[in-house]
Amino acid sequence: MDALRLDRVSHRFGGLLAVDEVSLAVHPGEVVCLLGPSGCGKTTVLRIAAGLERLQAGRVLISGQTVADGTIDLPPEKRGVGLVFQDYALFPHLNVLDNVAFGLVDARDTPARKARAQDVLAQVDMADWAASWPHELSGGQQQRVALARALAPRPRLVLLDEPFSGLDSRLRDQVRDQTLHVLKQSGAATLMVTHDSEEAMFMADRIAVMRQGRVVQLGRPTQLYCQPDSVFVASFFSEINRIKGVVKSGSVHTPFGAVAADGLAEGAEVAVLIRPEALRLSAIEDGAPEPASAARVLAARLLGRTSLIHLCMGDMGGQHLHLHARMPGQFLPTEDEIVAVDLDRRQTFVFPIAETT
Ligand code: ATP
Repeated sequence: MDALRLDRVSHRFGGLLAVDEVSLAVHPGEVVCLLGPSGCGKTTVLRIAAGLERLQAGRVLISGQTVADGTIDLPPEKRGVGLVFQDYALFPHLNVLDNVAFGLVDARDTPARKARAQDVLAQVDMADWAASWPHELSGGQQQRVALARALAPRPRLVLLDEPFSGLDSRLRDQVRDQTLHVLKQSGAATLMVTHDSEEAMFMADRIAVMRQGRVVQLGRPTQLYCQPDSVFVASFFSEINRIKGVVKSGSVHTPFGAVAADGLAEGAEVAVLIRPEALRLSAIEDGAPEPASAARVLAARLLGRTSLIHLCMGDMGGQHLHLHARMPGQFLPTEDEIVAVDLDRRQTFVFPIAETT
């Protein structure tokens, strides 16, 4: 049975269709991320699932029970859902332990209630802060307490809205790592909103990419990254190089040789999308045979774990090609050096020009 199921959920704000027939299921124990640009409707979907936004069309089921449809509309506290929303900050007048114990209504003020709160605090490494006040904690610590508060009543479903957005990048990595472990340990199903593709890939078992109110592709992170079915999805996951071309005999000619254009009409104008890491560069040794394709280095920069190399490729049908390549570790050829370029076709995608917006 699905922990959460949305059936053809739509939502309007005045004349704006913010959510357009979204259907989605989150299985028990699974983390699903809603990923998309600002304004595409992610938060609205989450708020509808939580009961914070009144359902207008469609149906919401939690653990097989209808919680919202044309007639039913269970309030958030009756849905058995753990919420970590940006606007659901900690209660400033309660200490950390009481914040976490707050949702444990069944156990009242019994020792069991405190023990459970203390237990969940330990899971998020905040046991030593039980007597502290929210204002004494850093952003990352507050976020962990908010997660503990959401998990304390053992919800079968947790909804997270951009839970790491207020944290600086190093802290964010740490907190999201811990959050993933705690969520997986708890066995709760999770639906999380983010606009950051790397974060979605880090957290998610499956990702639903949204655009203009619709889910445009849903799948495992590797599926979306390696088999995007639109230019939008392909370019949402990384910066991407684009080359224009025309289909001839089932493939497109590029400076790196032919790239298959399966299922596209002969003569169709296409965009060839190449991930920067699909361009594999190597130095050309003195006296080595001329490589099949080569490029001139405009600049090379070490970015930490990878190097970014700006390349200029020879004129191709009037196109001036400025491409970006990303190589693992330190690969820093000098300016104006000619390097050999090999294309990894598994990270190269061809789409009709008409679909490139
Ligand atoms: P962000 O990442 O910026 O939060 P989002 O993908 O979560 O974006 P939503 O917050 O769901 O998007 O908003 C979807 C659309 O609905 C946006 O155009 C937004 O301006 C609009 N919208 C959201 N809430 C309201 C509201 N209460 N009243 C009117 N319009 C709204």
